[in-house]
Amino acid sequence: MEISILGSAGSEAPGQNSPAFLIDGCLLLDGGTVGLALDRIARCSITHVLLTHAHLDHFKGIPFLLDNLVAVNPACNLQLISGKEVIADIRKHIFNNRIWPDFSVIPDPRNSILSYRVISTRRPEVIGDYKILATRVNHTVPAYGYLVEHVSGPSLLYTGDTGPTEAIWKRMRGHDVKALIVEVSFPNEMMSFALTTGHLCPSLLEAELQKMAAIPDKIYISHLKAPFRAKIESELARIPHVSLELLEEGTSFSVP
Ligand SMILES: [Zn+2]
Ligand SMILES: [Zn+2]
Repeated sequence: MEISILGSAGSEAPGQNSPAFLIDGCLLLDGGTVGLALDRIARCSITHVLLTHAHLDHFKGIPFLLDNLVAVNPACNLQLISGKEVIADIRKHIFNNRIWPDFSVIPDPRNSILSYRVISTRRPEVIGDYKILATRVNHTVPAYGYLVEHVSGPSLLYTGDTGPTEAIWKRMRGHDVKALIVEVSFPNEMMSFALTTGHLCPSLLEAELQKMAAIPDKIYISHLKAPFRAKIESELARIPHVSLELLEEGTSFSVP
């Protein structure tokens, strides 16, 4: 699997865009940044969006992606996938013909450019060439982390936004997680704020990693809040026994 980093920041600043990770050109993990990072051809190849939660920074590229697709390629279909509360929020509060058009009936209800799929947390679901296992994580709104396994074997775990949590780590026992994308939003001095807002700081991440039965070969960090980036980076470097890499937008990595 080849993962392109369209955005990876926990806030917006020049050169720091909201989270969106494009897998093999077709499966988008969160959609905080799309049109700012991809040309028209690349946008048209996206068929599925796996959304961790309904917060704007993880979603705001999707309304514009649909607006663009309907203009240039109205025959295509984008499937938006998430847990039931997330899909319900998106339908009610975004694509409601008030904030943005209801693209699930455009150009017409039987051939719409947007469709929804509620994913189960009970068992893995097959989406194209991937098997997806969804698990609830601990954020201020309903939020899901995803294990994405390619049919050929490689697997990537993406937690999305979360504070300290348990279920997703437990569930990874028995799975060979090759790469992990996990968030760290605040420096250690803001730990109580991180906990209140459902996020991690470096010392909380260290405790989370200890809950894993096996540490993945690669651990990538996302969602740093821009004003604290340097401080977080130096605190992450002091976590022993693991090698952590900050994700940089415009780059890519492969999961072997
Ligand atoms: Zn969030
Ligand atoms: Zn976020």
